[in-house]
Amino acid sequence: MARITDDELDDIRARNPIADIAMGYTKLRRSGGKLLGPCPMCGGKTTSGRFEVFEKDNSWACYAYCNTGGDVISLVQQVEGCDFRAAIEKLGGRTAIDAARAKELFEERERKRLAREKTSADYREAERKRLHRTWKQTQPIHGTTAAWYLEGRGLQLPEHCPGLRFAPAMPYWHGETVDDHGRKAGPRKIHEGPAMVGAFIRPDGKFGGLHLTWLNVMTSLDDVTPAAPVKAEILDPDTGEVLNSKKMRGSKTGAYIAIVMHAAPRRLVIGEGIETVLSVWTAMHQAGRELGDMAFWAAGDLGNLAGRANKTVSHPTLRRPNGQPQKVPDRFPDLDDPGLSVPDSIEELILLGDGDSEKVLTENAMERAARRYARAGRAIRIAFAPVGLDFNDLLKAAAA
Ligand SMILES: [Zn+2]
Repeated sequence: MARITDDELDDIRARNPIADIAMGYTKLRRSGGKLLGPCPMCGGKTTSGRFEVFEKDNSWACYAYCNTGGDVISLVQQVEGCDFRAAIEKLGGRTAIDAARAKELFEERERKRLAREKTSADYREAERKRLHRTWKQTQPIHGTTAAWYLEGRGLQLPEHCPGLRFAPAMPYWHGETVDDHGRKAGPRKIHEGPAMVGAFIRPDGKFGGLHLTWLNVMTSLDDVTPAAPVKAEILDPDTGEVLNSKKMRGSKTGAYIAIVMHAAPRRLVIGEGIETVLSVWTAMHQAGRELGDMAFWAAGDLGNLAGRANKTVSHPTLRRPNGQPQKVPDRFPDLDDPGLSVPDSIEELILLGDGDSEKVLTENAMERAARRYARAGRAIRIAFAPVGLDFNDLLKAAAA
């Protein structure tokens, strides 16, 4: 039998509304935008109903024991215990589709796709606004736990550091939860405490998202000792796993955290982490260097610093568990991705590569960034911290 086209499948689904087919198998009652009842496969039922049918997108799901769902064809397959072809025959089989019907089906698919895209774009924009509200509630960083955390690492803060602030009680959300009805609920709050908060600025100049570092409660700089960890230790309450005390939320693509910013800087330093960039600023500041025309940005991670690669290549030594070479992004940029929006006024661009990140990955990213941001009349320098050290280690070694 020939392959069944998407048009034919859509036509079969349109001729067999999910509610009609499901009601042939089980008793359903309407509740809100869906139909609920005992599951025709596993029999699972509660007062609230565990088998659900959504007429809006012609789908079903069982949250009792099956823990699965799908379209009308998969429902017939599951209940009747038959294969895909047999399910289609039971639903009346495929019928010849003329050009007019094909156009109708295509338009319906496009309408649904656009609706889905709009929903996810709306969700991202709502999340961005929520994060922006959180940012507007933060406090200036100087004289706070976040400043002591940085000072404890030998770092100084510029007098004006627009991208870094402090939150005394930042909630930490983690994982998926499952409610009494077996439905997936959102993540839950497993920790709340002081945090250093960085703001990502998008290429269009708007707020994009947050960079969060959770810290232990400190009452003064004296609390920062080599013996006392300053970053909060956050454990998964279910597994005991130690979770990352840093998180990035919202959209950081092409966005940066402004550690030092000027209206039209001539020189720009870009590094991956906030601490890396502050290390270099601190060292130059302490050496009495003239920094009046120099901006400092943190990109959040290497991928964001360097932008997308044109392809991936095999790592020379690293192997995956199956013995195949590990793939890493190449040294050449995909120029469809603009990367960070480095201002036209920049005559000298300094890219920081940490020596404690994976060597090939870091070197490729630095070369990729150098190619991407190259312009006539612009000098690009790549500064690598020695292997096994980041710039913050170097600074601490210099201070000792
Ligand atoms: Zn079920």
